[in-house]
Amino acid sequence: MNSTKNLDKKITRRDAIKIGSLTTAVVAATAIVSPKETLAQTLNKSVEGSSAKRHATIDDIYKIDPNMRRFDQANTAFCKSVLNDFGIKPLNPDDNPQLKNAFMNVVFSSDGFNPISGLENPHLKEQKPGHTDLDLALDTGALGMENFTSSAFARIMANESGTAISLPDGTLMPLSLYKQDVPLPGQFKKFPKKYKFETTDDAAYAIKKAAKLYGADLVGIAPFEERWVYNTEAYIPFDVNGQPIKEEVNIFRKVEFDFEPKSVIVLGFEMDYESYKTQPSAIGAAATSMGYSKMMETSVRLAFMLRRLGYNTVHAGNAVGVSVPLAIQAGLGESSRMGLLITEEFGPRVRLAKVYTDLDITTDAPKTFGVKQFCEICRKCADACPSKAISKAVKTTDPENKPMNDCNGKGIDKWYNDHQKCLSFWGENWGECAVCISVCPYNKIDMWHHEAARSITKIPGLRNLARSFDEIFGYGQAGSEKLMKSYWKRRI
Ligand code: SF4
Ligand code: SF4
Repeated sequence: MNSTKNLDKKITRRDAIKIGSLTTAVVAATAIVSPKETLAQTLNKSVEGSSAKRHATIDDIYKIDPNMRRFDQANTAFCKSVLNDFGIKPLNPDDNPQLKNAFMNVVFSSDGFNPISGLENPHLKEQKPGHTDLDLALDTGALGMENFTSSAFARIMANESGTAISLPDGTLMPLSLYKQDVPLPGQFKKFPKKYKFETTDDAAYAIKKAAKLYGADLVGIAPFEERWVYNTEAYIPFDVNGQPIKEEVNIFRKVEFDFEPKSVIVLGFEMDYESYKTQPSAIGAAATSMGYSKMMETSVRLAFMLRRLGYNTVHAGNAVGVSVPLAIQAGLGESSRMGLLITEEFGPRVRLAKVYTDLDITTDAPKTFGVKQFCEICRKCADACPSKAISKAVKTTDPENKPMNDCNGKGIDKWYNDHQKCLSFWGENWGECAVCISVCPYNKIDMWHHEAARSITKIPGLRNLARSFDEIFGYGQAGSEKLMKSYWKRRI
């Protein structure tokens, strides 16, 4: 599953010195915190005392306004950018010119040209490390499964006109089907006979086992809640060559199911550690693109299985609803300063997909393992962010921590970040960034010293040292041309 696990197996002399320094520092810090205890006793006691705690619902962890308005997908920075690029009037008038060309530079320009503006990717022209033809080809291949499946579907279904409606995450729907204006159709015909599981626990066990077989690294189940469904979805009309179509269609649609969903199966996919170390680059983007292909493959398989069992499903990557709160409610992890989900297993280096269904199934409970408290003192993502988009407020309740623009969902206790600034940097970079994920101390592969560092993040008295330890070990660096150049030379 984790192809990069072997990379750090050999501990060099330099590592040994670092480990020595870490141990000395931890012992010294422990002596301050608790002079009579050994390090092991302190770690064990503290980890045990503050290890992941279960909670009944997401509302027990984050303050959520009961009158919170459901988020409109058109207000995501991606949507705003693509609407801008296609010359479509946005949902809200505050559309930001900063976002011009950003989406198309990042998503539809693997040949080095933005198909709408005709702008050329300067990094590719220079064959800059991390943006060479080989690097971009790696990313194109990684997204291949998602692109092939969605465009093949659109080509077949769009018949004579070859015209499709696209979600900004790349999912395509033929215009002819879209025009029927049906609520979200279950994508596949369900089997007429319903399979009855003996208990809802049996159902959960079977579905989780199947999800793992189909390729998920993490799986949890959340109860269906309308508040996490997009208020409207935004569809972008273009033909199979990626060109905008002239025809007038309503691109903002209410999200409605044609069945009553009871639960949401949330799937998590690890993104490759080694590739992510080179962020921001096309090599790092390839790990993200692999995530998108896996999201598509696994969620489709699970949807096929459920419909064969006689249940309705709608599967989605980033579409239909917001993924992070669902993943929290499904017990996959916690929210963070950078706004992404942090898991115990892979930190923020995960992609999420979901399958909505009407199967009766036991749901999971949210858990906490100290992320919010650690984020309050860490701020590493905010310091490293090239566009300064991440809030530096100490606490989520600090007065300067306010919504920036329409791209922020409001009414939730969280750090507010400027997604428009973030995506604008992606556009300038002609590719994704994800430096925040790369530098996050939770973004580690499994090794004993990583475990030790993670344990420290759970100990209130030692949290402020954990960030320094991360740097002592040489982790959390980003944008290194050396790493980008050496990527293809490292042995597999
Ligand atoms: S992706 Fe890059 S620009 Fe965006 S928030 Fe993260 S570090 Fe900042
Ligand atoms: S880098 Fe630090 S502050 Fe940012 S999300 Fe990770 S732990 Fe939190």
